[in-house]
Amino acid sequence: MNIAIIGGGISGLTTAFYIKQFKPEAKITLFEKEDYLGGKMHTVNKNGFLIEEGSNGFLSNKPDTLELVKLSGLENLLLRSSDNARKRYIFHKSLEILPESAMAFIKTPLLSIKGKLRVLGEIFAPAKKDDSDESLQDFGYRRVGKEMTDVFLDAMVAGIYASTPKKISAPAAFPAVVKLEREYGSLFRGMIAKKKKEAGPGGILMSFKGGVSTFIEQLETKIDMNIIKNKEIQKVQKNENGFKVISDELEMDFDKVVLCSPAYDSAKILQNLSPTISKKLFDIEYSPVSVIGLGYDALEHDLEGFGLLTTSEAKKEVLGILWDSSIFFDRAEKGKKLLRVMIGGQRNPNLALKNEDELIKMAINGIKEIMNIDIKPNIVYVKKHVKAIPNYKVGHLANIKIIFDKLKDINGLFLNSNAYNGVGLNDCISNSKKCAKTVVGIE
Ligand SMILES: Cc1cc2nc3c(=O)[nH]c(=O)nc-3n(C[C@H](O)[C@H](O)[C@H](O)COP(=O)(O)OP(=O)(O)OC[C@H]3O[C@@H](n4cnc5c(N)ncnc54)[C@H](O)[C@@H]3O)c2cc1C
Repeated sequence: MNIAIIGGGISGLTTAFYIKQFKPEAKITLFEKEDYLGGKMHTVNKNGFLIEEGSNGFLSNKPDTLELVKLSGLENLLLRSSDNARKRYIFHKSLEILPESAMAFIKTPLLSIKGKLRVLGEIFAPAKKDDSDESLQDFGYRRVGKEMTDVFLDAMVAGIYASTPKKISAPAAFPAVVKLEREYGSLFRGMIAKKKKEAGPGGILMSFKGGVSTFIEQLETKIDMNIIKNKEIQKVQKNENGFKVISDELEMDFDKVVLCSPAYDSAKILQNLSPTISKKLFDIEYSPVSVIGLGYDALEHDLEGFGLLTTSEAKKEVLGILWDSSIFFDRAEKGKKLLRVMIGGQRNPNLALKNEDELIKMAINGIKEIMNIDIKPNIVYVKKHVKAIPNYKVGHLANIKIIFDKLKDINGLFLNSNAYNGVGLNDCISNSKKCAKTVVGIE
């Protein structure tokens, strides 16, 4: 079995890894358009500050990521977040700690008494009668009320998807939460029932020593495959026995092809082979996000915690500020501090596309306004992601159903990336394991 994988992000690498686990004799060629693998998992070392351009970690309560790390023999790279990183903050009208217990929720100034009572009323709110799609805003307003949605859900969806409750589909982006309503009629009732059934520990935020790139670089060496970097695939054509994979100065034949590139790149690659799939892939929208890393040789601020997210109503230019050096100790040398600021998303897409100087100015200003830090950083690093994260808008599930139904007509062609069923590293890894099973025909 001769297989092409297009795209060397975590989805492509994990798919390759599991194909070899399930079928060691499979021959794999992985094509990547950049000169490095990892895609959105990429660490840059600037004067000893380890700056993540994208993801910085994953929660340990989903088994598939830890299984991949273990099977690839890379457990020695695992890095646990500091205990302080459990503390998260929200900036709505002022900077407040995210309540983690019922008592803290009662005391938090983030919601009014009326807003809190409305949250408690969730248990009595009637369940939706059908399975139709709806925005997170509509879902939130129905279940937990406007205030909770505009503060907590708004900040959370900015942090995970760089989106807004209005612009994202609840069933596509938060399937487990929507399932609670469908199965138990109420989120509270569902959570209580689940807690009784699965009394397991909550997840711990984990990453890798030296940043996520260390893991990617090591994983790359553990998979027996042919890796072709700096090669942007332009087209995949059907031929008699399988497929022809085409780029400038290269044409290679394969039995099967797995597209692990972002939806808009896969759409271009499939334009001739399946105009219908291609059109639907182009419909998957992406949110722009710029990441600004700021390193300080000395900073009088204890930065105890994971960081903060702002709400739309706070009307700040920054979506959030991550206190990276207090989450993972090795992101800055002892005594130094590293912050990462996120700008843009669906809330303010145009801000993410501003030039570097303007982005740095906005980041520094955000840190000053929200955290009261008014000193110049010693280093800055900007990564502009014009298309950072897929925005699963209302209609996403119907759209991907058409894509995957149509895909069944093209035997041997597969699609797998964060564009379809989850954007977190845990989702990408578990979806890639499933995809590998389908490719080798064991599921
Ligand atoms: C700013 C940011 C912060 C994030 N933080 C977190 C976090 O803390 N935790 C978490 O769990 N998740 C986080 N995520 C999400 C997570 O990083 C991504 O969902 C995940 O890394 C996507 O992996 P992927 O392999 O599906 O896609 P990508 O990483 O986008 O990889 C796709 C690859 O395909 C290649 N490619 C594209 N076109 C072609 C072509 N024509 N030919 C060859 N190669 C091609 C690209 O160069 C790229 O390497 C974050 C994302 C961003 C942007």
